[in-house]
Amino acid sequence: MQKGHTIKSVDPGSIADELGLEPGDRLLSIDGHELEDIFDYEYYIENESIMVVVAKKNGEEWELDIENDYQDLGLTFENGLMSDYKSCHNKCVFCFIDQMPKGMRETLYFKDDDSRLSFLQGNYVTLTNMKDKDIERIIKFKLAPINISVQTTNPELRCKMLHNRFAGEALKKIDRLYEAGTPMNGQVVMCKNLNDGDELDRTIRDLTKYIPCMESVSVVPVGLSKYRDGLYPLEPITAEDAAKTIDIIEKWQKKVYAEHGIHFIHASDEFYILAGRELPEEERYDGYIQLENGVGMIRLLTTEVHEALDELEGDEEEEELSIATGKLAAVYLAGFLEEIKKKFPNRKVHLYPIRNDFFGEMITVAGLITGQDLIAQLKDKPLGSRLLLPECMFRSGEEVFLDDITRQEVENALQVPVNIVKSSGQDFVNAVLHASEESGASYEAYELKEISYE
Ligand code: SF4
Repeated sequence: MQKGHTIKSVDPGSIADELGLEPGDRLLSIDGHELEDIFDYEYYIENESIMVVVAKKNGEEWELDIENDYQDLGLTFENGLMSDYKSCHNKCVFCFIDQMPKGMRETLYFKDDDSRLSFLQGNYVTLTNMKDKDIERIIKFKLAPINISVQTTNPELRCKMLHNRFAGEALKKIDRLYEAGTPMNGQVVMCKNLNDGDELDRTIRDLTKYIPCMESVSVVPVGLSKYRDGLYPLEPITAEDAAKTIDIIEKWQKKVYAEHGIHFIHASDEFYILAGRELPEEERYDGYIQLENGVGMIRLLTTEVHEALDELEGDEEEEELSIATGKLAAVYLAGFLEEIKKKFPNRKVHLYPIRNDFFGEMITVAGLITGQDLIAQLKDKPLGSRLLLPECMFRSGEEVFLDDITRQEVENALQVPVNIVKSSGQDFVNAVLHASEESGASYEAYELKEISYE
């Protein structure tokens, strides 16, 4: 393998451009340091004066002394991470990738557990494949926050849940990060009869000792698809389980708030929906710090829909249209549509909660709805002049569903234009009221997560 990092593009007018660097050249070192990944690169280009070694496409090797006033050379590399992704060393009992049917696109089966993606994309990592030197790099580079899949603070139970005999030991890395003052967030995927009840209580208690470095912890219910043959026998979370979980979490919220002024531990929206409980008030989400884990999405969306509607004068325009979403939060969308109807009485909107036949009925979030389920369940339904679908149903940045069916194919099969709706309440209201707009975004789309905007 060739040494160095291949340059993909050079920003016009940048230092690299002025020096004659081109796509295809390879960056070998900065100030004598070979670069492990993008974090090394960003760390070493911080110096105002650097010596860069580049292998040119023609085989020459250039040594360049650079006055780097902007701490930016203007380079992009072929591999965005400047390194291969680290895969996980676990076989978690709740892993959703193990519960996917065969034959989906290959990239969906990649099990990453790469701390660098935690900083770049917000991914959660188990710390099990990190060496002490990786932790020291995080501390040295002041990378933050690191998002940690904790699951439990009981070492034996963690080994069992992650099916990794080093998973308990790996918890000690949280201590080191805490000592160094590294900001962290935690996540617990709650599995019935494993890390629920007293174990959850213990986990929360143990994690509170990392406040304020640990800023928040979310608890999300395990997602169970119909493809669990040969896997650990997990049971679905019932309404009663959800209610007990909320009670534990809310008990800790009160205690932690009194001592630290933050709520710290958060149940995902799904628990409240499962338990049939009122969602927490806005203040309890601590600035929606765990929004990407499905914590507070519906509360935020409700607030945004009301704010958007308050700004609008009603009208009498007529339109018939349709919306499809997952079953989980369809009831909330129905409520928003009722609100819209008060000001816009002649909009007739069909709301279709889609049953997840692809992964199984226990999966109820919009982000895991496939094109084939949409087509099968909507093909004989009145859809009106257009069909609205949430952005989270699509692969990030593309118009492709999880099963590789495209938006165009759905449009052709259902004979209706599809509008993709981004995730804020404003986007939702705009999409319902204005046929031509595909409104601006507030949050990222989520791919293959048990979370959706809905
Ligand atoms: S849940 Fe994550 S860490 Fe666990 S096996 Fe799956 S990919 Fe690996």
